[in-house]
Amino acid sequence: MIVGGGIVGCMTAMELVNKGHRVTIVERNQIASQTSGESSWAGGGIIFPLLPWAYSESVNALTAQSADFYQALSERLLTETGIDAHFEQSGFLLLPEFNATAAQAWCATNHVPAHKVQASSFNVQSLSGEDALWLPTVCQIRPPYLMQAMRKWLEQHHVTMLEHTQLMPLQETQQLQEWQTTTGEKLQADQFIVTSGAWSFELLKETSAKLNIKPMRGQILLYKPINNLEQIVYREGFYMIPRRDGYLLAGSTLEDVGFDTGVTETVRDELKRKAEAIMPTLIDSPIIKHWSGLRPGTPENLPTISAHPTIKNLFLNTGHFRYGLTMAPASARLIAALVLNEPPHIATKPYNCVQ
Ligand SMILES: Cc1cc2nc3c(=O)[nH]c(=O)nc-3n(C[C@H](O)[C@H](O)[C@H](O)COP(=O)(O)OP(=O)(O)OC[C@H]3O[C@@H](n4cnc5c(N)ncnc54)[C@H](O)[C@@H]3O)c2cc1C
Repeated sequence: MIVGGGIVGCMTAMELVNKGHRVTIVERNQIASQTSGESSWAGGGIIFPLLPWAYSESVNALTAQSADFYQALSERLLTETGIDAHFEQSGFLLLPEFNATAAQAWCATNHVPAHKVQASSFNVQSLSGEDALWLPTVCQIRPPYLMQAMRKWLEQHHVTMLEHTQLMPLQETQQLQEWQTTTGEKLQADQFIVTSGAWSFELLKETSAKLNIKPMRGQILLYKPINNLEQIVYREGFYMIPRRDGYLLAGSTLEDVGFDTGVTETVRDELKRKAEAIMPTLIDSPIIKHWSGLRPGTPENLPTISAHPTIKNLFLNTGHFRYGLTMAPASARLIAALVLNEPPHIATKPYNCVQ
C-alpha cells in the first residue's frame, strides 16, 4: 500500500507492478489533478537539478540515473496509454552570475555537454554579450500530462486507487496490520510505503522516525507569448520554461509559509519583473495562470528512501524537495529493492535519514 499519489507514489507503484506485485495507492485528493497543495502537478518539469555542482553526490546520483530513464519512460507511456507527456530536450541556458569554474568542472566530470556561449546568440531579447553556459542535453517533461499518463498506466495495470481517502497520523507499533482513514475505515496491507510529500512528517511524527521534512511553497506564472523562447533559461534562482504548444512558465519561489497554498500579488510582480528583464516583450503578454505547490522540503535536498526505524513493514520514499520529478524513477527503483529485499542498485546509507 502506497500512501500518497504524487509522482513519487505513482512511480513507486509502477516499479512494483513491473516486478509483479499487487499495489494499492491511497490518495486524499485525486491522482493527477491540481488539488490544493500537491507538488507534482504544480512543478516546472525540468529534469535536471538546476545547479548540480551545488549538491552532494547522493543527490546527483538519483537525478542523473532518473534523467537517463525519462525518454524511454515517456515513449512507453505514449505507446501504452496514448498520452504524450511532452518530453523534450530543450537545453538549458545558464546566465550570469554563476560559478563558471565549478559549473564547467562538474559538467566535464559528469559528461554533461556544456559550451561557453555569448547569450546574445540565443533568441533571448534583452541579452547582450553576456558569458553564458549552454547545456544542450537538459530535458523537460510536462508534469500534468506525465501524471495523467501515469494514472492511466496504473489503471491499465490494475493498481487499486483509493482516492478521496485520507489516512490518519500513525501511532508507534512494531508491525503495521492496518492503517485507519479519517472516516474510520481500516485499510490492510502486507507492506506500506509513505510517499506523502510535504505531509510525511505530519503522518509519522508520533512514531520514532526522525523526519526532517517541511512544506516549501513555490509559486509560478504561465504566459502564452507571441514569440516564445526555444530553450530553458536560468538566471540567479529564476527560470523560464518554454512549452511545445507555445506556453511559457516563469518561476519560482522558495517560501517557508507552512501549508498555505495561496498565491500573492508580491510574488506575481516579482516573477513578472524577472521574466520581463530576460524577455521584454512579455510586457504585452497577459499572465494566463498563477499557481503554487508545496514541495517536501529537506536539508540539502536529500530525500529519505529507507525502512522505518522501528515499524517492520513500513517504508519511506519522501522528501525530494526541489527535484522530486527528476528523482522519482531512481528513487522508486531503490525503495522497491528495499521493500522486496533485493540488492539495491546504489548505496542506501545516504538516504536513510530517519534514524
Ligand atoms: C513550483 C514548483 C516547481 C517545481 N519544479 C520542479 C522541476 O522543474 N523539476 C523537478 O524535478 N521537481 C520540481 N518541483 C518539485 C517536485 O514537484 C516535487 O519534488 C515532487 O512533486 C514531490 O512529489 P511527491 O509525490 O513526493 O509529493 P506530492 O506531489 O505532493 O504528492 C504527495 C501526495 O500525498 C497525498 N497525501 C498527503 N497526506 C496524505 C494522507 N494523510 N493520506 C492520503 N494521501 C495523502 C497528497 O494529497 C499528495 O497528492 C517543483 C515543485 C514546485 C512546487
